[in-house]
Amino acid sequence: MREPQLSGVGVSPGRASGPVVKVTESIEEPASTPAPDDPHAEAARVAPAAQAVAARLEATAAAATGDAAMILTTTAAMAADPALVSQAEQLVTAQRIPAARAVYEAANGFATALASAGGYMAERVRDIHDVRDRIIAELLGIEPPGVPTLERPSVLVARDLAPADTAALDPGKVLALVTEEGGPTSHTAILARSLRIPAVVAVRGALAMEAEAVAVDGVTGEVKAVDRDAPVVSATESARAEWDGVGSTSDGRRVKVLANVGAPADALTAAEAGAEGVGLFRTEFCYLDVDVEPAVADQKAAYSAVLGPFAGKPVIVRTLDAGADKPLVFLAQEDEPNPALGVRGIRVSFERTGVLDRQLEAIAGAAEESGADVSVMAPMVATAEEAAWFADRARASGLSRVGVMIEVPSAALTAREVLDAVDFVSLGTNDLAQYTFAADRQLGAVATLNDPWQPALLRLVALVGEAAKEKGKPAGVCGEAAADPLLARVLTGLGITSLSMNAGAVGAVGASLAAVTFADCERAAGAAVAAPTARAARAAVAEIG
Ligand code: PEP
Ligand code: MG
Repeated sequence: MREPQLSGVGVSPGRASGPVVKVTESIEEPASTPAPDDPHAEAARVAPAAQAVAARLEATAAAATGDAAMILTTTAAMAADPALVSQAEQLVTAQRIPAARAVYEAANGFATALASAGGYMAERVRDIHDVRDRIIAELLGIEPPGVPTLERPSVLVARDLAPADTAALDPGKVLALVTEEGGPTSHTAILARSLRIPAVVAVRGALAMEAEAVAVDGVTGEVKAVDRDAPVVSATESARAEWDGVGSTSDGRRVKVLANVGAPADALTAAEAGAEGVGLFRTEFCYLDVDVEPAVADQKAAYSAVLGPFAGKPVIVRTLDAGADKPLVFLAQEDEPNPALGVRGIRVSFERTGVLDRQLEAIAGAAEESGADVSVMAPMVATAEEAAWFADRARASGLSRVGVMIEVPSAALTAREVLDAVDFVSLGTNDLAQYTFAADRQLGAVATLNDPWQPALLRLVALVGEAAKEKGKPAGVCGEAAADPLLARVLTGLGITSLSMNAGAVGAVGASLAAVTFADCERAAGAAVAAPTARAARAAVAEIG
């Protein structure tokens, strides 16, 4: 049925319209016959095919920057993974099946293992499938699935995009992105924002839409069929406005524009992008696949490498946020029926004070060594009592500036008491949305609930902003909400004093704040908080401009 208008979650602002190009789903399952005449020769084809795919991804990575380069390099490493190659080779010889079929089976085995590990690991399944299909296409000499070469500027419509596909997009040819799956914190959303391509995710029925051309609104989330001869429109260039590198509104209200990082490469990218510091260093990203607790000296070296580019600048280091979507192998946590509601974040530290104390010691050492102006904060704090417990321990380790994340509604509701216990708070809007709406942040089916423009979420942010003002202490936002240039104005108007985001969004957010006064931000905040729906909130703020 022809659906003239669909809607989803706008995750990267801007309006564009033009011809639709649908992205091929995935390649056909390769057959297990005919049996190769010479299984050893057939097996020997796997490694060169994998290397060719890895080399192509690396070449694309070399031409990219920031998040895109990092994602492409990671995917290239997956393609060249010796474990995948040798397993496929063994399948060819042991089962006498064609190389393409063997790659298919070997990769699916890895994907199943990752899916059953759940959470962050499960998110990598999309990458494995992407690598699998690229190697198979190479072996069969066919066009790899994914984004076709675009002849003219087009709107891409896909079920979901592999991170490597999104990272390799040419912003000059892609007018907008529309996906059926994905959420506001998916790779597609993060990269679309950093490439400044309007994007709408979680659009049910997008692939079945018969329109030859569509208009996409990355703010309201609307995707409308338009006449195929309608003029092609690319997104406004407003995000490219000048920014002098100091986060503030045009009338001087200071709002620090900071970056989220997880590795030394991110820190360099963030410094190059002009971030004023780091608002969230996700330390667990250093140790996702380490099976023994790293020694204090090793941790200190790893943290120093990330802090280095920010010597003399503010950096907030978050203690390990393990559990749920980011299980840490070395903590060997017990299986839980509801990991997102279980022993995660600071709750792990209550059970393993030694792990926390050793990490705090390493952070204090790295702060001294790097010269960065380090603060420390704990994830997933639910009560003021927990905040006080953490602050005592962090101060005892010699870290003088201590804060906590507000990611659980109970912490937002008691922000005054939480602020009494610490020096600052930082709102993790990704998890705060997940727990406010009881909606898994990784699930496309509930993405509209995890939309950071939801007025219920903004009202919790407002409570924290008011409490921070009353207590005279800073309150930042370090969830993906901070990366949306329009929403950044709303957050500022709600009393937020720093915004931390992926490096790609730093310039656009800085420029967005510089273009308005604080009174404009307060007006935007008032309109968004009073709106009945997320869509109405976006529309009201876009109208104010
Ligand atoms: C958040 O929850 O918003 C956040 C910043 O933490 P993470 O995304 O690492 O859970
Ligand atoms: Mg979080």
